[in-house]
Amino acid sequence: MYKNIKNIDKIVFGQGSFSQLEDILSPKRAENNKYFVFVIDDFFDGKELSNKLPAYEEDMVFFIDASHDEPKTSQIDHLRDEILTAKGLPSGIIGIGGGSIMDIAKALSVMVRNQGSSTKYQGLNLVKNPGVYHVGIPTISGTGAECSTTAVLTGPEKKLGIKCEWTPFNQLILDSDLAATVPTNQWFYTGMDTYIHCIESASGRLYNTFSKAYGDQSIELCKDVFLGENSGQTPENAEKLMVASLFGGLSLSYSEVGVCHALSYGLSYVLGTRHGIGNCIAFNVLEDYYPDAVDDFRAMVKKHSIDLPKNMAKDWTDEQVTKMAEISYALSHMWDHAIGENWKEKVTLDMIKELFYRM
Ligand code: NAD
Ligand code: ZN
Repeated sequence: MYKNIKNIDKIVFGQGSFSQLEDILSPKRAENNKYFVFVIDDFFDGKELSNKLPAYEEDMVFFIDASHDEPKTSQIDHLRDEILTAKGLPSGIIGIGGGSIMDIAKALSVMVRNQGSSTKYQGLNLVKNPGVYHVGIPTISGTGAECSTTAVLTGPEKKLGIKCEWTPFNQLILDSDLAATVPTNQWFYTGMDTYIHCIESASGRLYNTFSKAYGDQSIELCKDVFLGENSGQTPENAEKLMVASLFGGLSLSYSEVGVCHALSYGLSYVLGTRHGIGNCIAFNVLEDYYPDAVDDFRAMVKKHSIDLPKNMAKDWTDEQVTKMAEISYALSHMWDHAIGENWKEKVTLDMIKELFYRM
């Protein structure tokens, strides 16, 4: 069966386009209880962006710390209850930040119209009622969370996305000026997410013309940004990386991630490693699977003097490594894509443990 994927309704693109937010929201203010909820990365608290926010007195503004933990089901449930108790159903939700905030905005937009804990809806098409209008304004590029149908949440039992046709944003504002302040290491870790999405999307059996068209463009943009003559954190490159992130997400949506993401989830589960840096740690040991791309990746690390953790495994117990490998092994759709339908004949738990021991 071919995938049938809901896309973003509208996209504004360009430096300074954030200033259009007020006009974009204005016609929607009449809906529901006539107020908006803003969820914003707390990096922007007290910064220029918060002064330019078109928030009215009746709106609710939450500054959220995304620097430690990835979004949790309990966090979403709590926010949802607070919002509904205070003011009832909002006209919409606006998320301003990185992948974490994109996921929080997407999850909240469905959870304000669905009862019970968000843990009930982790999975594919489990959401009962359509959500409210929601706008995504990314401030760091790479995850593709701005265009994916998934709102990744960590619950007490599993880290899994709420995935349904109402999660994708109704509106995106892609203003690369907002990404100017991202610290270099974070810029690289998150930026590499889209590069790795495209490499993995291309290196597997689900690869197809749609994924190739977007993926090739995204890889070319990433090479400009991270390896080209004018590489680095310039305004031109910030714009390129924002498009690369979107295209990487689109490439992936019709294909699948592979070995790197499978390992990265193992790291995340056992050590709480964040998605971007976890991918970088994992990708660095995958020369047997993605040789050319890993060579380029290492050149990019060197060029930008990125801090890439190494020799980490010496501090891990065998029990931890076994758990990481089990989590990875369980992501059968990724191995199936990367290695083939008969992947279990080719990949063993011990082979995966060996990869973790190289980190
Ligand atoms: P993030 O949202 O986790 O933020 C990382 C750090 O960057 C934070 O400290 C934040 O404050 C900072 N930051 C963001 N914008 C900034 C700016 N303009 N200036 C200065 N600092 C800034 O970063 P991310 O890597 O974009 O997102 C990772 C999250 O995305 C994870 O929770 C992961 O699960 C999720 N994810 C989701 C999808 C999806 O399809 N839904 C895909 C991949 C990853
Ligand atoms: Zn990813």
